Amino acid sequence: MEGPLIHIHFQERSWIARLAAKKLGAKNGLAIVFFRTIYLHGISKAQLIANKPMLQHEIKHVLQYQEHGGFMFLMKYLFYSIKYGYYQNPFEIEARLAEKDDTVLQRVKLED
Ligand SMILES: [Zn+2]
Repeated sequence: MEGPLIHIHFQERSWIARLAAKKLGAKNGLAIVFFRTIYLHGISKAQLIANKPMLQHEIKHVLQYQEHGGFMFLMKYLFYSIKYGYYQNPFEIEARLAEKDDTVLQRVKLED
């Protein structure tokens, strides 16, 4: 473990997550991360926490923001999305690997 715990916040029934869900055609709830907040649509905070792979995936994105710096992460994420598409975006590949890595949970504290 390295550095202080990162405090993560949740926003349920988020309009930005609803827009993303519409665009991606997500039927089973969607989470989208901006900085240290996880925005949710069609899934509650409790449901996300109960879904460990999905939770760890989203936490990995928070850690990516920390690693790269918030603004730079967004720029790189956008660049990679255009270059490689959503699924092959290196940040998404890394986040999918974190779905099986529960050590990411040790680096964060879940808030409201
Ligand atoms: Zn992701």
